[in-house]
Amino acid sequence: MLAEVRGLNEECGVFGIWGHEDAAQITYYGLQSLQHRGQEGAGIVATDGKHLHGVKGEGLVTEVFTQKKVQELPGFGAIGHVRYTTAGGGGYENVQPLLFHSQSGSLALAHNGNLINATSLKHQLEGQGSIFQTTSDTEVLAHLIRRGGFGTMKDQVKHALSMLKGAYAFLIMTEHELMVALDPNGLRPLSIGQLGEAFCVASETCAFDIVGAKFIRDVEPGELLIINKDGVRSERFSMATNQSICTMEYVYFSRPDSDIHGINVHSARKRSGIQLAKEMNIEADVVTGVPDSSISAAIGFAEATGIPYEMGLIKNRYVGRTFIQPSQSLREQGVKMKLSPVRGVVEGKRVVMVDDSIVRGTTSRRIVKMLKDAGALEVHVCITSPPIKNPCYYGIDTSTREELISASHSVEELRQAIGADSLTFLSVEGLIEAIGHEKQNSHCGQCLACFTGEYPTEILPDTMHPHDKELMC
Ligand code: SF4
Repeated sequence: MLAEVRGLNEECGVFGIWGHEDAAQITYYGLQSLQHRGQEGAGIVATDGKHLHGVKGEGLVTEVFTQKKVQELPGFGAIGHVRYTTAGGGGYENVQPLLFHSQSGSLALAHNGNLINATSLKHQLEGQGSIFQTTSDTEVLAHLIRRGGFGTMKDQVKHALSMLKGAYAFLIMTEHELMVALDPNGLRPLSIGQLGEAFCVASETCAFDIVGAKFIRDVEPGELLIINKDGVRSERFSMATNQSICTMEYVYFSRPDSDIHGINVHSARKRSGIQLAKEMNIEADVVTGVPDSSISAAIGFAEATGIPYEMGLIKNRYVGRTFIQPSQSLREQGVKMKLSPVRGVVEGKRVVMVDDSIVRGTTSRRIVKMLKDAGALEVHVCITSPPIKNPCYYGIDTSTREELISASHSVEELRQAIGADSLTFLSVEGLIEAIGHEKQNSHCGQCLACFTGEYPTEILPDTMHPHDKELMC
C-alpha cells in the first residue's frame, strides 16, 4: 500500500497537437524539448480518425523512438508524455500515454501531476468491479470516464474530473477529439499554442519554440478545452478555482527559456539571485552556479554583488538528473558522474556556490567537498529558495518529511552537515518578490507549501507517508 501510494508520485511533461498531418513527428520534437521533466519513460499515441495507435517504452525519447517507430503513428492528432518515476512506480505498464479500447471507442490519457485521492477512488472503483492494469493514478480517470453513464463524452469527462482532487494537467484523446484539462488550482503549468492551422498544448512554452508554434495563452484552472475539427472550445468543469502555480517550476523544474504565466523562468531565477544578494553580506572572489538550473541565479547574484561570475562547475552531459534517485549510493554516484569542478577557477579562491534548493543535502555536501578538493579556500553556499521542510503531494517527489534535511536541521546544523563555510537561504517573501507575479499585477497565486506547509488543497490521509501522518496528528 505504502509503496503503491508513494509510487504514484511523478513529475512529468505532456505535449499534444491537433490538426497537423505530421502530428506524431511534431509530438516527438515537443517531447524532446520536455525531456528534462522526465527521463524514465516516453510515449506517443496518434489518431488517424479511425484508430488510436501508440508507441511507448522506458528510457529517453531518443531511446524509445526510432524514425521508423514515429512513422508507425499516422494521423492528424497526437499526444505524448515523458515520465519521471519514483521507486516502486516504474515499469512499462505505467509509461504514458495510457491507451484503452472499449466497444464505444478508444481513449488515450497523458497526465502531469498527482491525484491525492487516487487511492480511495481506486478502492471504490475496484469495489464496483474495475480491474486496473497499472499502478498509476492516471488510470483512475479512464475508469471514471467510462463509468460516467449517459451524456456526451465531454459530459462524462467533466463528471469524472469533478471527482478528482490534487494536481493534474490532463490530455485526453479519442479518435475524434483532444480534450485538455487543468485542475482547479492550476498547480502544474500548461499552455496552448498554434502551428499554422493546428493547435498544440504543452507543459512548457519551450516546446512551442522547438516546433515553431506560436504561444496563445496559458490554460486556466478548472478549464476544459475541446479541440476537434470545429476548432477550440473552452468550457469549465469547475468554478471553484484558486490559481496556485507550483513555485518550484520557477526555481528548478522548468527550462529557463520557458515562460510561465507571462514570467520568463531565466529572468525569475536571475532576480532570485539578485534578491538573495540583497538579503545577505558576503566577501568572496568568485560566484559559480550549480549547472544547469542555478546558472541564471548565479549570474544575478554576481551582478548584484559585483563578485565575478565564473564557470566553477561543469556538467558532464548525457547523464540523467540527480534530483532524486532511488537510493543513497545511486544518488552519490550520480553526482560524481555529473559534475566536475574547474580547478583553474576555484583553486585558492573564496567561492560562492549558488544552488536552487537543498532536498536531502547529499548533493550539496558532495559539491562542497568537490570544490574544496579542487583547492577552494572557502565555499559559501547560497540557496535561491527557502528551506524545503514539507513534502509535496502534487506530483513532485520531494520525499517524506523525514528525508527532507531542512525539516529536522537548523540552518547552522545543515551548514555543518554539508561542510560549507556559510549557508544562506532566500526568504519566502524574497522568492515571491523575485518571481514577480505581484509586480506585473498578475492574479496568479503560487503554491509555496513545501516551504511553508500551507497546502492549497485539503491533504487527504491516504496521500501521506505514515511517518508524516504521525507528525500531522
Ligand atoms: S508543494 Fe512545492 S513542489 Fe509541490 S506543488 Fe507546491 S511549490 Fe511545487
